[in-house]
Amino acid sequence: MLSNAVNYPNKYSGECVYCHNTVPAGFGFYNGSTSCADLVEVEDGYGRIDVTCKNAEGALINFFASKRYVASREAVKAAGEKRRADIAQAKKDRVVAKKNLKATGLCTRCGGAGRSDNWIATGSVCFKCDGTGKSVK
Ligand SMILES: [Zn+2]
Ligand SMILES: [Zn+2]
Repeated sequence: MLSNAVNYPNKYSGECVYCHNTVPAGFGFYNGSTSCADLVEVEDGYGRIDVTCKNAEGALINFFASKRYVASREAVKAAGEKRRADIAQAKKDRVVAKKNLKATGLCTRCGGAGRSDNWIATGSVCFKCDGTGKSVK
């Protein structure tokens, strides 16, 4: 039973939205939608929690354990990890690039160019090196 959900007695006959069993009037619950039995939460092992009726709990557990489902969740997880790794690598690359520019005596902002048309709104000249392109001590 869900702690934060209020289950109202089902006044009308209908179909359980979770297991599709027919629910006669006076049986099951109504909570925005008809359910045939108490609601339960099932966690998929990846932080996703789905609600279902007690009768469909086993089916949902089996679905979460299915090869296809696990493969799709693993793919999402791997993509997230790759994205995080890429961001961390890009951050490291920027630090190294900055260090290399400093070592060669070039401005770490403009890379030695001194100016860029991208900065036309602020006068096109690099504010860090004042347009010299040289590393600022
Ligand atoms: Zn049901
Ligand atoms: Zn500069």
